[in-house]
Amino acid sequence: MNYWRDQLKPLLDDETGTIHKQAPIRVTLAFPNRYSVGMASLGYQVIYRMFNNEEGVACERAFLPDEPENFRGALPTVETGRNAGDCELFAMSVSFELDLTNIIRTLDVAGLAPLREERDERDPIVMIGGPFTSSNPYPLTPFADIIAIGDGEQLVPVISEALREASGREDFFDLIDGVPGIFLPHRHVHEPKWATAPKELLPAYSQIVTPHSELSNMFLVEAQRGCPRPCTFCLARTMYGPNRNNGGDELLERIPDWATKVGLVGAALSDFPHTKYVGRTLTERGVKLGVSSIRADTVDEELAAILKAGGLRTFTVASDAPSERLRRWLKKGITTEDLLKTAHISRNLGFSGLKVYMMIGLGPETDEDITELISFTKELAKVNRIALGVSPFVPKRHTPHFADAFAGVKVIEGRLKRIQKELRTVAELRNVSAKWAWVESVIARGGAEIGMAAYRLYKNESIGEWKKVLDEMGWHDEFEENRAVIDLPPGQLLRGVSAHAGGLSI
Ligand code: SF4
Repeated sequence: MNYWRDQLKPLLDDETGTIHKQAPIRVTLAFPNRYSVGMASLGYQVIYRMFNNEEGVACERAFLPDEPENFRGALPTVETGRNAGDCELFAMSVSFELDLTNIIRTLDVAGLAPLREERDERDPIVMIGGPFTSSNPYPLTPFADIIAIGDGEQLVPVISEALREASGREDFFDLIDGVPGIFLPHRHVHEPKWATAPKELLPAYSQIVTPHSELSNMFLVEAQRGCPRPCTFCLARTMYGPNRNNGGDELLERIPDWATKVGLVGAALSDFPHTKYVGRTLTERGVKLGVSSIRADTVDEELAAILKAGGLRTFTVASDAPSERLRRWLKKGITTEDLLKTAHISRNLGFSGLKVYMMIGLGPETDEDITELISFTKELAKVNRIALGVSPFVPKRHTPHFADAFAGVKVIEGRLKRIQKELRTVAELRNVSAKWAWVESVIARGGAEIGMAAYRLYKNESIGEWKKVLDEMGWHDEFEENRAVIDLPPGQLLRGVSAHAGGLSI
């Protein structure tokens, strides 16, 4: 079987916006997950365009195939089918903690030794960036030569310039050492100050539109980066830097005439001052809309009507906590009344349902809070069809909860069971596994040793293997509860300040 011809070429043929470029410096931009997932990442698409805009640099994409064991050492790029590992810079964009083992698989599949210490000057430089690095770069330190933290727009020109100028590998590192957002694990002990892109480099927008993305045929444009709200559990405020809104006309200018579906990207779109203007202008052109979740306290009939005209069938809001008391604790600023009002608006305007995102396992949570969740979900379900997405709370670095304990698998599974029993016939329930949330919580606040644990098990990953390997390493946290092992750099976080960026709903 010829993987490029049989699998990748048909995907390539269906793309609009692919860049085909030949240049002396070859960059592979890999995504440690499927093509459909990577192509839905706006950040990944922006970095692809920016490298290709650089003089002397040509960038091709590569994705983790479904059966990586069949590809070791010969992962083809999408554009030409050349070997992904045959390049000067092998860059990866990583969104989720649980993709840690996929990063190792992707390096292996591309014929590169995953461990930095086992590579030499004959190998490409391995750079890892993306939201995961802003959250916690330390588990990546055994693998990456460069960890890029913060806004990639700011770093691509610096890296490209160094690739053009450097006389050798160490000279390359000398040229980028000390730049905000550049973490060199073989030289630095602590993560650096994050890179922040100036407003002139925004908005981010799609380069390639394809029917094979998870956001099929959707052109993405970023309305806002960061978030002005103070929700204490959420990384959006810190991870995406200061809140930067783009202008309504700036967004419209970026959207090509041929786009038939547009996704507005932003952490809190109902706070973005131009959502209605941009949405109305697009729907009047007959364009379909996609938006990330909307805050229940700022929904009104006018906004809902624009989204309905843009083809949205369900409305998505985040409750984030099971009770009024815990929403206040998270500084979420949403009330049960707001959720009820949104349910009524969604029904009145003919939306087929309301999706509500929820976290359980929050620090002071008790059975009483779950009772309240069950009770208000029943109320919501009297108004419109409800889909309830329940995730275990995973404390993150760079938030005021970074030192809180993970609630424990037993506690979370017990509460999920109760919610399931009481709401089975009332709402559509979608749960995230408590056990995988535990793994996520370990990676989110662990150090290089967690990267090495992932390296030991990546060919055979399961919950059981994670438990076994962590036990063998003498990991001192228990399966049921764990705490951060990595501190924040002194002074980086003020307790009480912090931030989710929900996916797009279509
Ligand atoms: S949860 Fe995060 S993204 Fe949403 S409003 Fe709060 S801080 Fe902003």
